[in-house]
Amino acid sequence: MSATGTSKPQHTPMMQQYLSIKEAHPNDLVFYRMGDFYELFFEDARLAARLLDITLTQRGQSGGKPIPMAGIPYHAAENYIARLVRSGQRVAIVEQIGDPNASKGPVERKVVRVLTPGTLSDEAFLNDRQENLLAAIIEADQAYGLAALDMASGRFTVQTLNSPLALQAELERLRPSELLLVEDETAPELSFNPALRQQPIWLFDLDSALTLLNQQMGTRDLGGFGVQDMPLALRAAGCLLNYASDTQKGALPHVRAILPERHDDSVILDAASRRNLEIDLNVRGEEEHTLFALMDHCSTSMGSRLLRRWLGRPLRDRKVLNLRHNAISTLLNNFDYEAIRDTLKPIGDIERVLSRVALGSARPRDLIRLREAISQLPQLQSQLGSLDAPRLTQLQADLHERPQWQETLSLALVENPPVVIRDGGVIAAGFDAELDELRGLDDNASEFLMKLETQEKERTGLSSLKVGYNRVHGYYIEIGKAQAREAPVEYTRRQTLKNAERFITPELKAFEDKALSAKSRALSREKYLYEQLIAALADDLTSLQQMAQALAELDVLVCLTQCADRFNWSAPELTDQAELLITEGRHPVVEALSESPFVPNDLQLNEHSTLHIITGPNMGGKSTFMRQAAIIALLGHVGSFVPAKAARIGSIDRIFTRMGSSDDIAGGRSTFMVEMTETANILHNASANSLVIMDEVGRGTSTFDGLSLAWAAASCLVEKTRALTLFATHYFEMTALPDRYALASNHHLDATEHDDKLVFLHRIQPGPASQSFGIQVARLAGVPAEVIDAARTKLGELEQLPMTTKGAAIETRVADAPIQADLFSSTAHPLVEALAELKLDQLSPLEALNWLYRQQKDL
Ligand code: ADP
Repeated sequence: MSATGTSKPQHTPMMQQYLSIKEAHPNDLVFYRMGDFYELFFEDARLAARLLDITLTQRGQSGGKPIPMAGIPYHAAENYIARLVRSGQRVAIVEQIGDPNASKGPVERKVVRVLTPGTLSDEAFLNDRQENLLAAIIEADQAYGLAALDMASGRFTVQTLNSPLALQAELERLRPSELLLVEDETAPELSFNPALRQQPIWLFDLDSALTLLNQQMGTRDLGGFGVQDMPLALRAAGCLLNYASDTQKGALPHVRAILPERHDDSVILDAASRRNLEIDLNVRGEEEHTLFALMDHCSTSMGSRLLRRWLGRPLRDRKVLNLRHNAISTLLNNFDYEAIRDTLKPIGDIERVLSRVALGSARPRDLIRLREAISQLPQLQSQLGSLDAPRLTQLQADLHERPQWQETLSLALVENPPVVIRDGGVIAAGFDAELDELRGLDDNASEFLMKLETQEKERTGLSSLKVGYNRVHGYYIEIGKAQAREAPVEYTRRQTLKNAERFITPELKAFEDKALSAKSRALSREKYLYEQLIAALADDLTSLQQMAQALAELDVLVCLTQCADRFNWSAPELTDQAELLITEGRHPVVEALSESPFVPNDLQLNEHSTLHIITGPNMGGKSTFMRQAAIIALLGHVGSFVPAKAARIGSIDRIFTRMGSSDDIAGGRSTFMVEMTETANILHNASANSLVIMDEVGRGTSTFDGLSLAWAAASCLVEKTRALTLFATHYFEMTALPDRYALASNHHLDATEHDDKLVFLHRIQPGPASQSFGIQVARLAGVPAEVIDAARTKLGELEQLPMTTKGAAIETRVADAPIQADLFSSTAHPLVEALAELKLDQLSPLEALNWLYRQQKDL
């Protein structure tokens, strides 16, 4: 920055102070407090003026040139800061900390906080239904360490990932607003734009990380957190913690644990699948019409955030899931959830309140929310007391009553305190004798003044005489212009107005000194008491945080119960087989949005039937059917009931979806490349316990290439990985796969003609779809009867053949050389050779598969 290069002695002492602060914060917009304003100078002023559309002025000179300056009134600063931080800037807040009257030269100032997109904790800056995360990543030997912190709750997670795609998937799930990475490294391609901060590699040093983390957690080693085997993740965590505490200029007492997130613990969804299933963002990146939007009726925003986390990271631990299912059944049985929901309604965002308590930035209304939450505990105790479910019993224990806090907070705080403590009026009367006495002096003032006014009026006989007060001049006796000359001699003139004169007397002056000092002493007493209260709450932080977590979890369980009740969902049976058996399943979001009744469908995927080829006309319901299977599997692993009459859900390790839509072209790659990357990812990573959904694979390229790829992918899935696969396709040739593989079967969705209109039945049926459908549509569209007849004859001929000629060619080649080698082993796959000989125009399948192969090697 140009300013820092300027030699300081040319500047005023205040500018010198500014410049040395700026020197330590070269990358931050420095908000330099001067009286009632935050001022920005030099380049900071120019940038802020541009970003905030505020006036650029100037002050003094530097090197003969005026210094650009922009100012923001401190009481309106929050709004401006929020805009700057949202646009990715860092803002350093510099406050006056010395006493302006006591100091020679400029008042002492220092940076009290740096606000950055990923480290916000203030209510005004945050979306209450969404976490706001800071993340750090580091790569070494093809592995990745990832750490993420939610400053507003203190949740701190770490994990290790083994491929760039897995890293991308996790970042897409967490969507941090700020991302720390090693200098000169580039961030993965993402569908959102976190603020990127490159950090020198030494900040990722393992030893320093361990020291820092142990210091933070108050531990000697991190064994208790189960993170010893994650050095890479801990290096990221170290860098992150260093960055986070630097922004707060103090401790982070609410960050008390490191939570390892392991891949084996959860059902993994890659970024594309998350998007395709529209879990909390739809394919256009918006929130509406998503599973989360449908389900989120949580009473508290901390509950909403937890629900989003649960949906984002389904678990595999059947014990935990069964406990949740059991809690929902119990809450549902007695309709008890409605009463509990009502008790939870008045509870605010205690999780974030407690973090602000820990960071020392809690505001009076935060404490009121805490008081309200605590006062609901006795009611919750009695409501939970009658319910017999282990998880609810545990939550009941965490939600034990806290009578001392209830009493202290009730006695300490007035009913409706102002937003900030600055001007007082927060601590209630009767809580502290000293405060009451100081306030008493202040209250007596009005009585004294009234008496004084009457007495002076009488004594002087001046009818216009009155006693008043203003902030600048203090107390005064005012006499109208006409009578002012008759003022007694002991009256000293203080101020002349248009129509009146104001005076002070020794008696009034003495009173003023006493009253003003009582006022300011009362205020500082009040601030002191407030800080004491916050400190006492902070001492009890762990237990209060436990209460907040229990409230959030209870809220989510109640919300899941409400979904079960309102949408008629049922408890799934969880097994450890590789299976997904659904009776009368529905797609919850399509069902909710659709005006016509939803047609439920069954599904049976298990080790004897792993690949379903699904055919049928466009709009027939193929995607809906497949997505609903994935959503039911996912909800089962969230611990929720599921939209089906009954469901048996095996232990699913991953859910993959490949949906051939052109909306999801990320970062300018062609649809075909996107399709290949995703297909390669699936073939490489799916296991027999994975649920794979392939919709129109191959559509991104020419027909024949597409068919070849679809064929190759389906063969690999049924033959090699045996993943539970739903494969929707337009290539009718694919319906021959079940002839070759006992594990494969055909299913279709149909449409029928009714009163010369097409009606989609949306009912899944065994066997391949009829091919005559296009002809039917053509007829309805008014194509002449002769043409339709000719088409029917031709179709009849074609249907005699087991496949179309091209498909048969593939079939013959493949049949001649059955699949033996691994599809991606370095020995060429017979299918690849077969496809190569077909000499296709445009991009050949060999090129495509080679590309796939390279892709797989890169992983
Ligand atoms: P396809 O993938 O076969 O083109 P979709 O799954 O996109 O078809 O379904 C098209 C539309 O049909 C959906 O938007 C929905 O409105 C409706 N639909 C799909 N399945 C059902 C069903 N089981 N019951 C009722 N309506 C359905």
